[in-house]
Amino acid sequence: MKTALLTLLIVLLLPVAVYSQTIGCNPNHNAPPTGAYIWPSDSEVKVYFYRNMFTPAQKETLLEAMKLWTQAARQAAAGVSFTYGGEIEGLIDCRSCLTVTRQEIFKNDHKHYAFFHPLQRRSDGLLISAWIDFDFATVNAEALQGFMTHELGHGMGLGDCTSCKKKQTIMNGFPGINRDNGLIEPSACDLEVVRQVYQLQRQVARNSNEAGRD
Ligand SMILES: [Zn+2]
Repeated sequence: MKTALLTLLIVLLLPVAVYSQTIGCNPNHNAPPTGAYIWPSDSEVKVYFYRNMFTPAQKETLLEAMKLWTQAARQAAAGVSFTYGGEIEGLIDCRSCLTVTRQEIFKNDHKHYAFFHPLQRRSDGLLISAWIDFDFATVNAEALQGFMTHELGHGMGLGDCTSCKKKQTIMNGFPGINRDNGLIEPSACDLEVVRQVYQLQRQVARNSNEAGRD
């Protein structure tokens, strides 16, 4: 009951809390809406790449996106970090684990170029494990970095913003399967939304701990 209530609180209160306190960052205009899930604050997320799916140059761009989000998460007081865990043969489902692979995506639905999928979530909705799918056709270094930064953003509590102005958020749509959306790192408004999302998550966790001591 308590966990269900917490999940409900996060889902209902996040958008209100984020936007009422955010100055200069307007949802669906120059800032993304909040998404449905986040890694817990201060998680050390281990990122694994599928073997033989990425060239050495492509791996460098994936690592760069992870480094940028680790720095951004520190700045936004989320404390989440992304470190490389190595190459694997299949999806890995362990605590704070993220698998990165490729699939035929666009040929299947003619709409999407990449996906972030939660794999396992805690009873309060926070992520335990997840995976990211890129299309086989996304090979350009800048495009791949843009897509990776965008997909990592989903795990930081950011939703898609197709109506946002260009270059205002990494959560914009992409103009093509092999083209970035104008940014290859999180924007100031992306960080602001992340900061608010994690501030609220820490508050909910504190309240939950206090309630648990009653
Ligand atoms: Zn997206």
